[in-house]
Amino acid sequence: MSKRVRLRFAPSPTGGLHLGGVRTVLFNYLFAKQQGGDFIVRIEDTDQTRFVEGAEEYIFETLKWCGLEPSESPVHGGPYGPYRQSERKDIYRKYADQLVKNEQAYYAFDTPEELESKRKEIPNFQYNQLSRGQMKNSLTLSNEEVNQLISTGTRHVIRIKVPENEEIRFTDMIRGEVIFHSSQADDKVLLKADGMPTYHLAVVVDDYLMKITHAFRGEEWLPSAPVHILLWRYLGWADEMPQWAHLPLILKPDGNGKLSKRDGDRLGFPVFAMDWTDPKSNEKASGFKERGFLPEAFVNMLALLGWNDGTGQEIFSLAELTEEFSMDRVHKAGARFDYEKAKWFNHEWIKHSTAEKLEPEVKKLFLAKGISVTDQKKFEHIIELVKDRCTLLADFVQQASFFFQSPETIDIAAIQPKWDDKKELFFVELIRAYQLSALWEAGDLEKEFKELAAANQLKPGELMLPLRVMLVGGKFGPGVFDIAVVIGKDETVHRIQHCLQLLRP
Ligand code: GLU
Repeated sequence: MSKRVRLRFAPSPTGGLHLGGVRTVLFNYLFAKQQGGDFIVRIEDTDQTRFVEGAEEYIFETLKWCGLEPSESPVHGGPYGPYRQSERKDIYRKYADQLVKNEQAYYAFDTPEELESKRKEIPNFQYNQLSRGQMKNSLTLSNEEVNQLISTGTRHVIRIKVPENEEIRFTDMIRGEVIFHSSQADDKVLLKADGMPTYHLAVVVDDYLMKITHAFRGEEWLPSAPVHILLWRYLGWADEMPQWAHLPLILKPDGNGKLSKRDGDRLGFPVFAMDWTDPKSNEKASGFKERGFLPEAFVNMLALLGWNDGTGQEIFSLAELTEEFSMDRVHKAGARFDYEKAKWFNHEWIKHSTAEKLEPEVKKLFLAKGISVTDQKKFEHIIELVKDRCTLLADFVQQASFFFQSPETIDIAAIQPKWDDKKELFFVELIRAYQLSALWEAGDLEKEFKELAAANQLKPGELMLPLRVMLVGGKFGPGVFDIAVVIGKDETVHRIQHCLQLLRP
């Protein structure tokens, strides 16, 4: 029987989630769901100095917003817990000890000051197979000295002993065969002086204990892979090692390199999933959610950063992605981020969403502008009328607030240059005709408008723009007679009258 597929997202709670982080979640999630397996979130918080208040909560809120929730995590529980590494502290020690016993790791007693002076002395100093013979560790000291130091409680760490002159190979699901030479890896600390494991030890032990079958992570972790591969081997678990995939970077829209928060600030777009304020520095990073993205669009856009199904299709729901996703079609090369394209996805998703679905978020935005919505049916009708014109959710306010209140500003300058007495007369007559109108339907209003234009020997085209500006304040909005229907007879008449006054010299 084949093993149950289990994937994990293993963030360190050090801040908000960059869109690359969410894409890592997505690819892990899609693969797990497609294979009928489990998607797990494990919090890698062994480095207490990097702990950031609120970051873990932020991660779970983001996953909820995206609809990418795990079935096991510190929040969701599960049979392989605890899922927070700081709560698993006691688990790791015995593996570090086992490695020392097997001479695959060693005690290192070098003090932070000694290491510091080494770094000063030798630029780019690495604690590795070349230097370890000159350092203060259980490879250079006698057994008595080591026992003496340990029994007197001397601070020490445990480091992996990277073998000399060996090739370390593994098959990456995206990159194929990856080969490192052992000289490229340094003797990473596995257990710190305070007894806490480092990320390197904890990630391997936990992936093993949590029966992880596939581990997809960002390309920036590729240099750590040889140490992890060695640990799987040293601990005797090589047969159970997960299949690795190092996902391509998300690149800046311009120039080279990884997309950073700074690029977003510079070019005016969000780089995080949701707004994030660093509690210590108070530095703010804006998020796609608050910028007015639908989670479906955000997820769809992320999936296409580095993957496509080969047919040219671009719009995918999460269910479709789960069906169609395949690791064979994830590119090796970095994916360039394009904010205009991201907005295009959102626009498509807004256009194809029902008014009912859009309504709750749009209503919140209206409330924030002090516009309260009482008639639900009417509100949904308005959303339906304007949604094709909205790229971001916030656009609904701009595109539709005139339905609820008279326009704050009126672009009279758009009408004035071609305004004359004939047109004024037409609108005076239109007011009268509309006031007498028994029916208030778009088709009837348009018919009356056109008949009256003909009677006045005017082209309806020349009158349509003034009417639009009178009703909405500018040259935008859906069909002008649809607008009149929604705002009602009194308001339509009132807005036309108000503008006629503004136009009088
Ligand atoms: N804790 C690592 C991070 O913060 C996880 C890397 C991995 O997935 O192995 O991204």
